[in-house]
Amino acid sequence: MALSFASGRGARRRRMLYKYFNAAHSPRTHTNEHGAVFAATDVLTAEAQGTPRKRRGRFRSLSAIVLAVFLALCVNQAEGQAVGEVLPRWAPGTLDIHRISTGRGDAVLYIFPDGTAMLVDPGAETEGPRVTRQRPDASRSPGEWVVRYVQHVLPHPSESALDYALLTHFHADHMGGLVSSSPPSRSGQFKLSGITEVGEHIRIRKMLDRAWPDYNSPVPLTDPMVKNYQAFLAWQIRHNGMRVERFQPGRNDQIVMLHAPRDYPQFEVRNVAASGEIWTGVGTATRQHFPPVEEAPPKGRPTENDCSIVFRIRYGNFDYFAGGDLPGGEDDGAPSWHDVETPVAKVVGPVDVNVLNHHGSADAENEFFVRTLRPRVHVFSAWSTSHPDACVLRRLLSTRLYPGARDIFATNMSDANKLVVPELSKLKSDQGHIVIRVAEGGDTYRIMILDDSAETYRIIAVHGPYESR
Ligand SMILES: [Zn+2]
Repeated sequence: MALSFASGRGARRRRMLYKYFNAAHSPRTHTNEHGAVFAATDVLTAEAQGTPRKRRGRFRSLSAIVLAVFLALCVNQAEGQAVGEVLPRWAPGTLDIHRISTGRGDAVLYIFPDGTAMLVDPGAETEGPRVTRQRPDASRSPGEWVVRYVQHVLPHPSESALDYALLTHFHADHMGGLVSSSPPSRSGQFKLSGITEVGEHIRIRKMLDRAWPDYNSPVPLTDPMVKNYQAFLAWQIRHNGMRVERFQPGRNDQIVMLHAPRDYPQFEVRNVAASGEIWTGVGTATRQHFPPVEEAPPKGRPTENDCSIVFRIRYGNFDYFAGGDLPGGEDDGAPSWHDVETPVAKVVGPVDVNVLNHHGSADAENEFFVRTLRPRVHVFSAWSTSHPDACVLRRLLSTRLYPGARDIFATNMSDANKLVVPELSKLKSDQGHIVIRVAEGGDTYRIMILDDSAETYRIIAVHGPYESR
């Protein structure tokens, strides 16, 4: 049976294996009942009988190596996270973060330590020359693929519901774009793409976004995609018991564990920013970073990316940053408040894992931000030939900005970008679903890459364990 790294059973199994290891080097080895481990040792020990001291020593080292290899395999098996295997199911106490590779935007499923599930930004960018190919393929819509992935990994399949869904901002790659062929919902009240398609098939208990209920802040949202989403919300509230809330920066009690929160007091989701309102780092206080909208010329108003929802997840020593398509300023004479990364970095501080803002586009991951967060791991969803930008990648790799190792993982790198940016060969992975599995308590985490060419859920690479800092 596959056991999770985080589970107590896994730890017990490891302790038992280490006990075997020690026993194998004691004179009473052969009297032990654990045949599988000792068959090899017995042969080596028997061969070693009566040999000169030097040879015996060599046999002992060989036996130690054989055992070490065997035990390493056993431990890996016990943790169930070996290359070639199907991803072991989430286990209580573990924090799982699945960055689902669709080739068409974001889609991130969080399973908190008590099994509370949250889906963020199930996007569906529409066709275009710079858009990457769909994963696994184009036989289904991105929303359908996300539904099937989520249904496969949800910890409570009998209930098959998401406790939370959240949109960081209202762009197609984060919520689902509409085209003339977008299918209607069963009710006929709205069209299906991205979030509305997920909600059609999986019950969403609570929906969070940055602009509920009036969708007028900081400027009125008139996009047909947002109108369609509003029709979806209205239908879900009336017929499916959905609750909707505006994401409130500063709070650490809006997104909470719902099943066994007392078992994991070291877990927290901190709302950091939305629509330019940024947490100060003191209590739940916030301040508005944008100037009054009336003072800005129509073209100088906050953009949808500027308004992205930002949150930080903390689990013991593990810190994780996610900030949608937040910009860090542009060098084109734009007002300085378009840099939202800098004030956000000041309250977030260093993290273990950073989700690249704006998929690593040219306006994101500014120097101050990279230097302040100094992550061990960067992850992002790539769906365009510009993800990531070459200068951004140089900053991420720069040991002048911060010292030490760092690993970068992308879901679906375009071949065109690989041709233009040779440094992309330094990525740890550029294709596949990215699963961050944080062990119980948050001290360590692993990153597993899953095959995204079909629904195999098979592990193609394991990185770590990393120590949380
Ligand atoms: Zn985006």
